[in-house]
Parts: sequence; C-alpha cells; structure tokens
Amino acid sequence: MKAVLASNNKHKLVEIKTMLSDKFQDIYTLADLNINVEIEENGSTFEENAYIKANTIAKLTGLPAIGDDSGICVSALNGEPNIYSARYAGEPCNDKNNNTKLLSKLHALENSGDKVDRTAYFQSVVVLCYPDGSFISGSGRTYGKIIDDYRGSNGFGYDPIFLSDELGKTFGEATMEEKNKISHRSRALKDLLGKMKNVF
Ligand code: IMP
Repeated sequence: MKAVLASNNKHKLVEIKTMLSDKFQDIYTLADLNINVEIEENGSTFEENAYIKANTIAKLTGLPAIGDDSGICVSALNGEPNIYSARYAGEPCNDKNNNTKLLSKLHALENSGDKVDRTAYFQSVVVLCYPDGSFISGSGRTYGKIIDDYRGSNGFGYDPIFLSDELGKTFGEATMEEKNKISHRSRALKDLLGKMKNVF
C-alpha cells in the first residue's frame, strides 16, 4: 500500500516514515511528488488540523495521506500554546521566539507572586485519511516540565526547555532514539497502528 505524508517538517518525516514502513510499502513526501501547497490550519483542535492536512493531500493525490498536528500545553498557561505552538510568537514562525515568549509568560506570572505550575505535555494527533474522506486517527502525549535554561541542541521547537519526566533530561539533550521511544508522536503513531490492525 502507498501513502503520502502531509508534512514538510524534516524531523517529523523521519519519525513517521520509520514507524510506518511496515504497514506501507511506499511512503512519499510532498517533495517526492513535487507538491507545494500552503494548507490553512484553521481547525480548533489538534484532531481537526491533522484531518485538514491529511484530507487536503489525499484529495490532491488520490492516495491515502497521513497528516499530523502537535504542540505543547503548559499547565500554568491554561494549556497554552496548544494548537498555536508553531506560531506562538507570531510571524515569522521561529523556535527561539516561541521559547522566549513561553518563558517570559511564566516569569511574568512568577513575578506577580503566583504559584506557577510548570508541568507540561506534548500532544500529537496523527490522521490517516483516504481520498473519499474516511479516516482513522491516533493520539499520544508525553509529560514533563518547562525549565528556564536551554539544554541540548538536538531536536527542534520546544525541545531544549522541555525536561522529560521519563528521560530525566530535556528533549534537546536526548538522542533521536531516546526521544522516539517516548515521544507524543511515536505514541500517536502506535495508537494509529493499533487501530489500523482492526481495519486491514
Ligand atoms: P505543527 O507542525 O503544526 O504540528 O506544529 C507543531 C509545533 O509544536 C512545532 O512547530 C513545535 O513548536 C511544537 N512541537 C511539536 N512537536 C514537538 C516536538 O517533538 N518537540 C518540540 N516542539 C514540538
């Protein structure tokens, strides 16, 4: 079976391709198919955004498409930045600015004397969508807390300031193998694979 990944994020592509290679004999990226589309993520949940991406690409290519949406949710910020994680500090989207904004919001709360709960989780939803619009989805989370210093240079996004409960180090310090074992995305993919067993 063939499928196409509805993402241009290189980190995500490697992770998703590796995990789904048993189920699909050919997994194409958008670049492989010379597709260059701007998909508006105007959903209000991770699920809706993952579906919008997968459905757009499935319709465009006539192939099953895999879309994902992910982000970080911080307790002290009532779950922010959530679905706005990639564009938290506005345009142009930039990891450093997003991290700085997140930390300055926590500092502002701390400076006002509030007790600040720095626990956080990454959430991922992965959707496999067929050209007829039918779909299967999987979701996963991984828990940790936000720290003030930037640790490690691996990964992307909020990795250097996310201290993983399970690894005892930040995702920025973790190897890709360590992160993949417990990441929100690998858990979402496992959840999806489990559901696919019931269908195929
Ligand atoms: P998406 O590409 O719309 O799913 O945006 C996800 C955003 O959430 C990324 O740009 C990152 O800011 C953040 N994010 C999602 N997964 C991770 C991760 O594994 N590590 C660090 N940041 C992540």
